[in-house]
Amino acid sequence: MPYRSWVEVSRRQLAANFAALRAVAGAEVEVAAVVKANGYGHGADEVARVLETEGARWLAVAATEEGIELRRAGSVARILVMSDNLPDSRGAFIEYGLTPVVHALEELPPLEEMARKAGRELAYHLKMDSGMGRLGTLAAPEAVAEAVRRTVHLRLEGFMSHLASAGDYSSPQTDEQVREFAAWREQLRGLGIAARYVHLAATVPIAYGRREAWENMVRPGLSLYGYVPAARGAAPPRALEVSPALTWKARLVAVKEVPAGAPIGYGALYRAPRPMLIGMVAAGYADGVRYSLANRGQVIAAGRLVPMLGAVSMDLTAIDLTECPSLQPGDAVTLLGREAEVVLDAQDIADAAGTIAYDVLCGIGRRVERVYV
Ligand SMILES: *Cc1c(COP(=O)(O)O)cnc(C)c1O
Repeated sequence: MPYRSWVEVSRRQLAANFAALRAVAGAEVEVAAVVKANGYGHGADEVARVLETEGARWLAVAATEEGIELRRAGSVARILVMSDNLPDSRGAFIEYGLTPVVHALEELPPLEEMARKAGRELAYHLKMDSGMGRLGTLAAPEAVAEAVRRTVHLRLEGFMSHLASAGDYSSPQTDEQVREFAAWREQLRGLGIAARYVHLAATVPIAYGRREAWENMVRPGLSLYGYVPAARGAAPPRALEVSPALTWKARLVAVKEVPAGAPIGYGALYRAPRPMLIGMVAAGYADGVRYSLANRGQVIAAGRLVPMLGAVSMDLTAIDLTECPSLQPGDAVTLLGREAEVVLDAQDIADAAGTIAYDVLCGIGRRVERVYV
């Protein structure tokens, strides 16, 4: 590879993960593939292309710009914009055929006005805050029904909510949210308001088979990319088998011997306890190597796990190559992925860095080339 640092994304693995999700969800449940945050670092355009080829009918993003980018890249699926209904974004819903999530009833009149002016109908999904305490309306069913009835150019297509503690089986919060959401919809049905799609489940409730949280659409993100967060408490066995689709590599810019006592990197956070062979990897925190991995992280070099040494710099990370004397400048090491039997995945890195796998994947920077295999 002619790059300093790159990720290799397996199209086949993405397709297999999507197929596994669809199989678990079953024919009655629509799978909206979440490709926000540049497809969790995998490159949203190509992920969308692969999934649409596999039959994906719905994609979901956080930001309007992400939806626009997908359209420009040729995406023809429905695109749900989940976390962005800002006044300046609204024109794009019509222009690019994006489907907004409405989080507050006050958002309806300006959307209605825009759709009226454009002479077009705009479908939207209405989000209810069932206990996440983030986005979503807290309005009573009567107020919702009234606001929905006042629109004629808008079409209520979905009811949506989001779970705060789906992975924690020792918490009652998920059951409470599912009940709250169901009761709200039931009251709305009594008022004559219904929607084609109902959804609140992301990866965890799918992966652990919590069917009562599925309704007729699910929104998997992380699992598409091959990861399922560990559950807490008495979780049932996992119903979903997926595997990581991404490998992250970087080349050695330099390899050198240092004497005992040599300080390594900013702040001399590491000092060589003996003569060592060190390598400078062409990736740093600007590329997504977590700064918190100083003296804690590892990479795979020549098929073995070796430690990072000292501080992670913006563009470089020092590693111990004493046990890998065959490596030369220009050779690649694996920052995330596998070499033969040795595995270092996003969860391992997250554990070492004090974060979550989501953060590790989304954090892989723009400077890292995306290569599809
Ligand atoms: C990101 C996101 C998802 C996907 O969550 P995963 O845990 O990655 O599956 C689903 N729904 C909403 C509202 C989100 O913001």
